[in-house]
Amino acid sequence: MERVSAARVEQAKILLDRALGGSKLLTEAVSLEPYGYDRSEAAPVTPDIVVRAKSIQDIEKTLAIAQETGVPVTPRSGGSGKTGGAVPSAGGIVLCTQGMQNILEINPNDMLAVVEPGVILSDFHHAVEREGLFYPPDPNSAAYCCLGGNLAENAGGPRAFKYGVTRDYVLGCETVLMGGQPLQLGKRTVKGVTGYDLTALMVGSEGTLGVLTKATLKLIAKPAQVHTILAQFPSVRVAGSAVSAFVRRGLVPRCLELLDAGALEALRTFNLPLDADAQALLILEVDGEPNQCDADLEQLGNACDEVGATSVWVAQSESQRDRLWAARRDLSPAIRKLSAHKLSEDVVVPRSRIPDLLDEVARISEKTTVRTLAYGHAGDGNLHVNFLWNHDHEIPNVNLAIEALFREVIAMHGTLSGEHGIGILKAPYLHLEQSPELIALQKQIKQVFDPHNLLNPGKIFPTSGTHRAC
Ligand SMILES: Cc1cc2nc3c(=O)[nH]c(=O)nc-3n(C[C@H](O)[C@H](O)[C@H](O)COP(=O)(O)OP(=O)(O)OC[C@H]3O[C@@H](n4cnc5c(N)ncnc54)[C@H](O)[C@@H]3O)c2cc1C
Repeated sequence: MERVSAARVEQAKILLDRALGGSKLLTEAVSLEPYGYDRSEAAPVTPDIVVRAKSIQDIEKTLAIAQETGVPVTPRSGGSGKTGGAVPSAGGIVLCTQGMQNILEINPNDMLAVVEPGVILSDFHHAVEREGLFYPPDPNSAAYCCLGGNLAENAGGPRAFKYGVTRDYVLGCETVLMGGQPLQLGKRTVKGVTGYDLTALMVGSEGTLGVLTKATLKLIAKPAQVHTILAQFPSVRVAGSAVSAFVRRGLVPRCLELLDAGALEALRTFNLPLDADAQALLILEVDGEPNQCDADLEQLGNACDEVGATSVWVAQSESQRDRLWAARRDLSPAIRKLSAHKLSEDVVVPRSRIPDLLDEVARISEKTTVRTLAYGHAGDGNLHVNFLWNHDHEIPNVNLAIEALFREVIAMHGTLSGEHGIGILKAPYLHLEQSPELIALQKQIKQVFDPHNLLNPGKIFPTSGTHRAC
């Protein structure tokens, strides 16, 4: 994207300094650089200004000045996004809400919480669990992603199979529109059908419609007991058949994570009880009342044995559970070490098509000679398919492999992204899934919220070029 002009930036700097004071602004190259990228492979773009917001008023003033000066604004929270959503494609202002970290209310009677966008997800989990309550959305980046980014991306994670995704827990939110207008969306009640559901629209809008400044989140009772299982298999096909067996028996573990042989190679770098000859693995977790939980555990274990698991291991203590999940949460960085470059997609297929998806990935890898591996939230049909390469001359084949994957996923009635969003990286492929009419309608919605296309431009909607312009 074309960068905003230096003259506009200078004008915005003067006005922002006057409105917010210098302490909330970063303008030196060295301090701007870390705000130019996220945790994706999107090429970094250094912003011209970073605003470190501390209040809704800071956000209102920033968005008013940005509109007045015509300078683009990219919202940012934890910077852990996987599709370049927080990368300021056209330069300009990064509006960081990470400093708004207050949990304003945890209400056990109404079973809700009110939070600011910079609250780190794992801090929020601990806070509500201390009250005997539970907030299920649990992306594997929980230790450093923030609730603002979770809402903007409609984050999922391992517990979505049983409990759903972020959108299922957002009752309402406060947002500021481009130009500085604040808006209260949604409600504090569990039910409510007044007008269009703009809360649902805002959740998952990837910071392109408004800047989130507060959220009212639904909580549920904390499950009394949790068991975690690690089951190992001789092949990914056998592991896939275990998943089908659970579904047939009506078993709904809260987590159902699958790793193929390539992902298992990365997991072996952690100190876990892994069989030398295992070629696939499932991490299963059940929760609930003790009797039900024990019964589910037994049934899941039996189903794994029946389809041919090589071993089934049950975590015996909280520390064993933590060790297993720590390894799972660090899997993505561990995979990154297997080659010079990697790209991770998060496609979804109807869960019955998981074995077909795995077969297709193997076929695509063979045809394009690009190394692949897959892991992820198999219970939801959501797999992170990774493409690994070492040399630039492999890039055209990587692009072919990615497009082939997307086409196969769409042919299986799947979707391009289960939880990471479209951002920059998947924008060139949106047309594979959505009709021109649907894309045009969404662009019209964007125009209503942001007529001058200044809020997080360059995201979601198709641009020319291939994946990451690589
Ligand atoms: C190792 C690893 C594991 C991950 N595992 C998962 C997983 O299991 N499930 C999953 O869903 N995701 C996962 N992610 C992706 C990522 O953590 C999530 O998308 C997360 O929700 C991003 O939150 P963030 O605070 O880091 O957002 P950022 O990266 O800062 O921003 C993400 C998007 O939200 C927008 N945004 C940020 N703050 C605001 C705001 N206040 N108002 C409006 N828009 C805003 C940004 O513009 C951007 O488009 C993983 C990432 C990593 C690195």
